[in-house]
Amino acid sequence: MTDVVSLLGQIEDTGRDPRGPGYVRPGYSRVERELRDWFIAEAESRGFDVEIDHNGITWAWVTAPGENAVVTGSHLDSVPGGGEFDGPLGVASALAAVDQLRESGRLARARRPLAIAVFPEEEGSRFGLSCLGSRLLTGAVGPKRALALTDERGDTFADVLRSHGLDPERVGRDDERLGRIGSFLELHVEQGVGLVRTDQPVAIGSSIIGHGRWHIRYEGEGNHAGTTPMAQRADPVVAAARIIGDIPTIVGRYDGAVATVGRTRVHPGGTNVIASAMDLWLDIRHPDDEVVQDVIEEIARRARDRASGAGYRGHDVQVTVDQESYSPTTHFGADLTQRLSALLPDAPLQASGAGHDAGILAAHVPSAMLYVRNPTGVSHAPEEACEDDDARAGVIALADALAMELGVEGDGEGGAGPGGAGRADGQGDEEHRA
Ligand SMILES: [Zn+2]
Repeated sequence: MTDVVSLLGQIEDTGRDPRGPGYVRPGYSRVERELRDWFIAEAESRGFDVEIDHNGITWAWVTAPGENAVVTGSHLDSVPGGGEFDGPLGVASALAAVDQLRESGRLARARRPLAIAVFPEEEGSRFGLSCLGSRLLTGAVGPKRALALTDERGDTFADVLRSHGLDPERVGRDDERLGRIGSFLELHVEQGVGLVRTDQPVAIGSSIIGHGRWHIRYEGEGNHAGTTPMAQRADPVVAAARIIGDIPTIVGRYDGAVATVGRTRVHPGGTNVIASAMDLWLDIRHPDDEVVQDVIEEIARRARDRASGAGYRGHDVQVTVDQESYSPTTHFGADLTQRLSALLPDAPLQASGAGHDAGILAAHVPSAMLYVRNPTGVSHAPEEACEDDDARAGVIALADALAMELGVEGDGEGGAGPGGAGRADGQGDEEHRA
């Protein structure tokens, strides 16, 4: 049995950020592929059958593939400058939990098939659309739109798929594969402080709050930084800076809403050049989808107002606002979540402000999440953390949860093994909708 901490240790140097602490593990990059190869080697060394589907999702079948499968897993890509655990903790924990099930004899008695799934481009940091693999699998994004997405270099998703040996013609909703998933469990490092002041290492996800991404483009007039008088400029950077500065005030009027500009791009980007255009990307989240809509409408209206600049000559900076993605608030399946609460009675229920593949799958199959305490509460940054003992507690919780779904709960870690006190009540077999 491999310890989850040593599994993570095997990849701790893969994708380190050359410019500082943290990691850069973009979707469909050399680094993500290296991490996937690591996962495949680990899975094959355990005798699992590994396949990569048309949408780039890696499936490791622990048992023979079949219907009503219990599936666990997460992702291996990261945001730029991300932490060590967001994604890989769920993948490494899946391997370690399956090892525990095997050692305790529970796997041999499993009443349903079991698989581990690794989803590509979960963060959306390369093509702008989060959970790209699970969105394609479920049809939440259509192939036409997905294939036309471009990365910073201008490469389309279709080009990048081809370079990874995948056929763009075959990308898209896969009802057969989706129909095989009976339940999906994703373990993830906590991305907030909810567990920090408790004595609990693990929480159960109740919901994922609604979130959307918008691309705001400002177009002005490029010109010389030395020869263009201030009053004769149409500078998109000035207009964009105004709305960025207004966002905290606008959003502050909506209780519980958060909005972030985490990425900008200035064209053409020269110190002595007045920019011709500026792009910014806006992320807005709130449990009530109508509030998210209100916030973006107000920001868009204000962005247009603020682009008309005093001191600018006749033509104003032009603003366009495009929605890149929107995921409404997801409530995880009540049945599965209740069963998890009964299994882990001390684990608190938590709403998450972060999106996950489990949130996309939840619209189609019973899905649930376990969060493992993060002592810093920081995520999407190098300070993201997870104590070794908490990671191990997460694996035990995941193994027990998988055993519950497999109909072989009862043995626990180091339990009686085959013929032990397994309670096979077949629960979960009838649940088809989260
Ligand atoms: Zn994640």
